[in-house]
Amino acid sequence: MPRKIPAGNWKMNGLQSTLSELKTLEDKHGDADIAILICPPFTLISACEDTPFDIGGQDCHTAESGAHTGDISAEMLADAGASYVLVGHSERRTDHGETDALIAAKAQAAYNAGLIAVICIGETLQEREAGKTLDVIDTQLAGSVPDKADAQNTVIAYEPVWAIGTGKVPTTAQIADVHAHIRRRLQDRFTDGAEFTLLYGGSVKGSNAADIFAVPNVDGALVGGASLTAADFSPIIVALESA
Ligand code: PEP
Repeated sequence: MPRKIPAGNWKMNGLQSTLSELKTLEDKHGDADIAILICPPFTLISACEDTPFDIGGQDCHTAESGAHTGDISAEMLADAGASYVLVGHSERRTDHGETDALIAAKAQAAYNAGLIAVICIGETLQEREAGKTLDVIDTQLAGSVPDKADAQNTVIAYEPVWAIGTGKVPTTAQIADVHAHIRRRLQDRFTDGAEFTLLYGGSVKGSNAADIFAVPNVDGALVGGASLTAADFSPIIVALESA
């Protein structure tokens, strides 16, 4: 069975003072049946080590170490206490021109360091309106997911770019179509394709989480804005626990 994962991506948000939100989340969900993943900025990873949550980086370099000023290796993330890393988030693809090949190399670096890679894929609004959504998904899956991927070392996050941080959410039918397609492609390529955890991401909130988690092949969510406070993230966790 795929694992159920509520994942919070704090992006470039979070100071030492923000850790109080994790304390509140721990008070509410410290003994949850499902593992909760928090991806804070690099600066807070070590400080999250004492929480009961799984911790992830938001990006990693392809190399283990070396002359790459400002970058973080997967090995460093693991050393700081992370067990996951996001790769290929659309903000990285857009802001830093990341290609599928680079993302696959980052995922491979994550595996080499013993991290689980959360590989993000998703179409732009222009691509959706041009009827290219599934073609984009196919290209990104083929190019960003390494051959060494399996259900233990990889999570796939489907995040339509036009839904991230916009308040716009695809219909549950649209989410169902894409997630079923991703599942089929993973089953075509990997013997354990049925076991991969598939997250939906893009304006998930407490108010829409239950409907999204009722969609077949949605095993959790990658949540940006609504993961920043315990008050907003908690209802999403509750909805996934009871899905
Ligand atoms: C994200 O950052 O991956 C995301 C889905 O953001 P939001 O939930 O704010 O749309």
